[in-house]
Amino acid sequence: MSHELRVQAISQVTDRKPLPAKVPQRLEALWATDVFTLSKMQASLPKDVFKSVKHTLQTGGKLDVSVAGAVAAAMKDWATSKGALYYAHVFYPLTNATAEKHDGFVSVQGDGSVITEFTGKVLVQGEPDGSSFPNGGIRSTPAARGYTAWDVTSPAYVMETDNGVTLCIPTVFISWTGEALDKKTPLLRSNAAMNKAATRVLKLLGHTEVATVNSSCGAEQEYFLVDAHFAHNRPDLLLTGRTLFGKPAAKGQQFDDHYFGAIPERVQVFMQDVEEKMYRLGIPAKTRHNEVAPGQFELAPFFEAANVASDHQQLTMTILKNTAKKHGFVCLLHEKPFAGINGSGKHVNWSVGNSTQGNLLDPGDTPHANMQFLLFCSAVIRGVHKYGALLRAVVATASNDHRLGANEAPPAIISVYLGSQLEKVFEQISQGQPESSDHAGVMDLGVDTLPIFPKDPGDRNRTSPFAFTGNRFEFRAVGSGQSVSGPLVAMNTILADSLTWIADALEGKMTAGADLKTAVHAVLKEIMDKHSPVVFGGNGYSEEWHKMAVEERGLANLRTTADALPVLKADYIEELFDRVGVLTPVELESRFDVYAEQYIQSIEVEAKLVISMAKTIIYPAAIRYLSELSSTIAGLKEIGIELEKESAEKVAALVKSMMEVVSKLVAAMGKHDFATPEEHMQYFAQTIRPLMDKVREYADGLEGEVADDCWPLPTYQEMLFVK
Ligand code: ADP
Ligand code: MG
Repeated sequence: MSHELRVQAISQVTDRKPLPAKVPQRLEALWATDVFTLSKMQASLPKDVFKSVKHTLQTGGKLDVSVAGAVAAAMKDWATSKGALYYAHVFYPLTNATAEKHDGFVSVQGDGSVITEFTGKVLVQGEPDGSSFPNGGIRSTPAARGYTAWDVTSPAYVMETDNGVTLCIPTVFISWTGEALDKKTPLLRSNAAMNKAATRVLKLLGHTEVATVNSSCGAEQEYFLVDAHFAHNRPDLLLTGRTLFGKPAAKGQQFDDHYFGAIPERVQVFMQDVEEKMYRLGIPAKTRHNEVAPGQFELAPFFEAANVASDHQQLTMTILKNTAKKHGFVCLLHEKPFAGINGSGKHVNWSVGNSTQGNLLDPGDTPHANMQFLLFCSAVIRGVHKYGALLRAVVATASNDHRLGANEAPPAIISVYLGSQLEKVFEQISQGQPESSDHAGVMDLGVDTLPIFPKDPGDRNRTSPFAFTGNRFEFRAVGSGQSVSGPLVAMNTILADSLTWIADALEGKMTAGADLKTAVHAVLKEIMDKHSPVVFGGNGYSEEWHKMAVEERGLANLRTTADALPVLKADYIEELFDRVGVLTPVELESRFDVYAEQYIQSIEVEAKLVISMAKTIIYPAAIRYLSELSSTIAGLKEIGIELEKESAEKVAALVKSMMEVVSKLVAAMGKHDFATPEEHMQYFAQTIRPLMDKVREYADGLEGEVADDCWPLPTYQEMLFVK
């Protein structure tokens, strides 16, 4: 990019007007208009068919084939009335993306005419030729069959784009041999396992009526918006979603003047557009605000059943990206698009509950006396302690490694924050009997006109990766670009495991004659005696904690994806997933293979791009400037003016050093003989990444020396501050 183009881009951006804001419609008029909801089914299906579908939906069972035909016909009528010509089985392969295969409703008749057709069979099951999706060796190419099957618990919807309307059916994706090839299947299985174990515990607590227990999820999505004029001139943003080069601007986020500030007008119009689309799809977008970094924003929906929330989260990412394009932005979901500036996460708020007992993680006003809450909460504590490394592994990606452990995001050490009230209750449990809970209290602001407001019994702790926040846990280490499914699967699975252990222990003690209360207290004490080292209320960013966590408390500190992913292959993890019935050893191993390959491939792409950008963009710019500088110095010398050479020497030295490291990186990338994916990952983490960082260091040094009118890439200042 020449300097003129850069200047042009700046004026194009500043001249850009927001798209005309749509006339806001009433929420009731928008809500779920594009979803084939239960009430739409009720209106169009025979009574008995509807009853059967509704039952399946509520219990998560199998759809009766005899009703599938009627459902398909009603769904087709509804979709075609909205203009759909195609339908798609939508599924979630092991990438973080969403995949869909489109088929027309068209059916050619004997006489050459066509009718629209959509049978129960094609609604319920599809067969995309998905042989190119990552499967970690579960399917060899000659045996490439993969099936999709409708997940009735997630409603069908129509997706309207400028190119037409498509009926979308959320599905699972499995191999011909029945193995899960996607992110939805294990989520459904983990939810079912958790339901089974939770029901056992609730029954032991004396409840006779126990409705299906479901996990819930509310995912807060952080993202960056960069104007397309800048982003399109950054090959790194286009290909990898992050800047591989770029000197920090003089101003960063130190003034906190962006955080919760007034939302820029263009962004606001964009957000309204996004929210309208979400409402039409029945996604309850609720909160929006500026985030800490300049150009960073957040969107949070109201929480929903985990499976639906996960599908909706995928849709949200798609909507954000597509809508941004329309508004002249590029939406970056990468965890660390700009070095030195806060990255983006996706806090996954998670709880479990049902319609008869409510939220099982609700402590009430007197948690010390709430046996049900204490059991469920301690089950989570036990799970996080036993399987913290797994929680680290499910958020391990090449991009999230840039964020975890930096001083803005949770550390790579997984601990649990409870807040002072609960911490005290659990301490009492360890010492014998839980006898009291701190009161929530009130806050008197000392000004007559201000209300006295109720104060939460515990504060928040931003530095914890896994925090209890009042009536749910918030898993904060999840990356902004990730599917929430993996983390939800892990949380449901470890909870199912703990609850099963608790049910067994309670049954054992009660069979031996203990009354319920004594048995519960004994179980709670046993859990806390063993697992309290994972509870930590202090500063998770501090050096002392990192030392203490590892040396005194025996917690894992898995810094990179190369360290974390192999956890998926550990015997105790394989055994956990198999025992709980969420993933077979073959499925789990295939996941490790796929994720390891993704890690390697994404660094490979970045490294190649570092090399080519350094050679073909940064080096030429620096050399041109150097030649201009040195010929000027020489010319001036001829007429007797001595100009200091320092700057030219500095540029020359930086160019030389940069190209030396580029050569090293080129050579290092030539190594291909790795015995295992583990070895390959470690090589990329320990050798390739540091070399890439070194190239960047010199290149960013050059950005600080080379004349601005020679610099070929849009700068941090422009991308983050020109609006
Ligand atoms: P903060 O940024 O303060 O953490 P937000 O209001 O932005 O909070 O987001 C909190 C998220 O947690 C929302 O998506 C909200 O719906 C969700 N949430 C609230 N209660 C529960 C619950 N019981 N289970 C799961 N998610 C919940
Ligand atoms: Mg949060």
